[in-house]
Amino acid sequence: KASIGGYAQAETVAHAIALLGEAGGEGRILAGGQSLVAALNLGTSEGDMLIDIAGIAALRGVKLDGDRLVIGALTRHCDLVRDPLVGEHAPLFAKAAPLVAHDAIRNRGTIGGSLAYADPAAEYPACAIALDAAIILEGPDGTREIPARDFFTGLFETARAEGEILTAITVPKAQDGERHVIREGTRRAGDYALAGLAVVMRDGRHRIGAFGLGDRPLLCQGAMAALDQGDVDGAVTALAQDVDPPSDAQASASYRRHLAGVLLRRIAADLGVAP
Ligand code: FAD
Repeated sequence: KASIGGYAQAETVAHAIALLGEAGGEGRILAGGQSLVAALNLGTSEGDMLIDIAGIAALRGVKLDGDRLVIGALTRHCDLVRDPLVGEHAPLFAKAAPLVAHDAIRNRGTIGGSLAYADPAAEYPACAIALDAAIILEGPDGTREIPARDFFTGLFETARAEGEILTAITVPKAQDGERHVIREGTRRAGDYALAGLAVVMRDGRHRIGAFGLGDRPLLCQGAMAALDQGDVDGAVTALAQDVDPPSDAQASASYRRHLAGVLLRRIAADLGVAP
């Protein structure tokens, strides 16, 4: 049974932070509503005070800031697919967005909502750690910037404090020759992934973010080191140790590990890494 303690539209980030403070721990940010409203409908999330940030213009859009691309929290999945700056400077997100859910959800769901929700099977958190992105938070004590690899702390858990709003993600601009690849295995198109890998190859070095393969997105250090040496078999072996997949009604842990290895071999082929 859904229970909503109230609803308020925030006009600015400062207003939203003030509303969160007034709600005293009972406040809940509402962005695209594509995860939160579903959770409310299922009764798995108590509504508390819903603070709707969808009208805050400052949280929308994509811009360059020096050598980084800044993607506002309210940038929707469908915006990531077609934004030319994302396509040029962070193509991993442009490639990941079409894999997220379906058109109806991509038209409303936001990158900030996905990162804040921290579903371990979601694409963007793994992209964020593969890209060595930073998460920007604003709260009553000012602005904080947290490396994406430190932001995701557990199952649906992040380093965001209760009174803070995720305002943006910043990504180092892609360099010449940099390659971005994402692959995943799903039962049906649009489902959350059973297992997936997001890979960035920069200056011959690889960064691999895994999703659906642990309680949070994982940076796969062993597989990265082996792939840097052109050792695909070694990378697949190391990957099995890097990840810690769940067993559930969708798939067993061993199936997910196997699938991850298959995906890694295909990505290595995509990147032209010698077998
Ligand atoms: P909301 O639902 O509004 O919020 C989600 C959570 O994040 C809430 O707890 C909210 O309080 C918090 N929050 C939102 N924005 C902020 C912010 N700026 N600062 C602080 N906290 C915030 N996602 C995938 O990644 N891959 C999939 O394959 C996928 N498949 C889906 C299939 C279905 C059928 C559905 C319903 C959803 C699916 N999703 C999937 C989830 C979808 O991507 C959501 O859009 C996304 O996870 C949440 O974004 P949102 O803007 O809708 O956030």
